[in-house]
Amino acid sequence: MSRVFNFSAGPAMLPQEVLERAREEMLDWHGTGMSVMEMSHRGKEFMSIAEKATADLRELMAVPDDYEILFLQGGASSQFAMVPMNLLRDKTKADYLNTGAWSKKAIGEAKKFCDVNVAATTEADGFSSAPAQDEWQISADAAYVHYTPNETIGGVEFNYIPETGDVPLVADMSSTILSRPIDVSKYGVIYAGAQKNIGPAGLTVVIVRKDLIGQTLDKTPAMFDYQVHAEAGSMANTPPTYGWYLAGLVFEWLKEKGGLQGMAEINKRKADKLYQAIDTSDFYANPVRPDCRSWMNVPFTLANPDLDKTFLEEAAKQGLTTLKGHRSVGGMRASIYNAMPEAGVDTLVEFMADFEKRNG
Ligand SMILES: *Cc1c(COP(=O)(O)O)cnc(C)c1O
Repeated sequence: MSRVFNFSAGPAMLPQEVLERAREEMLDWHGTGMSVMEMSHRGKEFMSIAEKATADLRELMAVPDDYEILFLQGGASSQFAMVPMNLLRDKTKADYLNTGAWSKKAIGEAKKFCDVNVAATTEADGFSSAPAQDEWQISADAAYVHYTPNETIGGVEFNYIPETGDVPLVADMSSTILSRPIDVSKYGVIYAGAQKNIGPAGLTVVIVRKDLIGQTLDKTPAMFDYQVHAEAGSMANTPPTYGWYLAGLVFEWLKEKGGLQGMAEINKRKADKLYQAIDTSDFYANPVRPDCRSWMNVPFTLANPDLDKTFLEEAAKQGLTTLKGHRSVGGMRASIYNAMPEAGVDTLVEFMADFEKRNG
């Protein structure tokens, strides 16, 4: 058996070194005679794993001291509700940017809790760009501004961090977190499902500025209250211990790779190679405006969609898997998160050129 280059959008590839280390430690973590999965979350062994992972994430992202880092469950989708429950405070309105499928879901959930002002939308252009800040219609009394820095399905990424003044900025970073350095201090809340760029599914990371917590809506369930989790060190209930541990291994791997600056250089190079292969060919196309193209999710179409099936079959034979585009957009999508080796992108680019030569 050999490992494939898996271009899945999520759950996605994990670094091979991380999986190997997890395998080595599977039955007996550091001489304890047990797997991390079997440990009490309150025991000193797991506590040390949790503390190290949290500290490493804080270091990697340079998270300032006035932010909590929470390791939760429920996926990014639960955050679509937790954000309004926690951040509305005494307000009744929030601003949302609508740049694709995930923004839309976040908006739909927020509408259950407040008036949503869609401050900008790129729906008219088929979600193929991110709106410039001077195109937004923000409201005067919004509790926060929510956006999706990287739209995983459309492959659209903001190339700037919005300026929202005193209004907290909230970001669904599920598919771009840890791909490069970002200035956390510009945000009120950053959240991400782990299964794209952090670790396995089942873990959700939330980074929240401390002054924003503790003012939830009436009747907010305890498990949906950031303060409950912050006060308990994310152990208000049993946390997703194994996911937290694996995320910690990924953080160690990232540090060895030169941290987020090191990853940014690799990621930029990977994305450039793939977009170049698409742009220099009349056989492949990407619909996204070049300055808004995602480094992480690269959708592309074939000039003749009748060839899609053959493309996917032949790619899979070369160990290039899960390239089928999202069911809502068709075509192909190559997700090239941190754990996708550069060799995976090189192999895909070679395959694409060869396929074009034979079918173009
Ligand atoms: C995958 C994804 C989600 C959904 O995450 P779940 O963890 O499945 O809830 C939300 N937002 C973005 C941007 C995503 O990429």
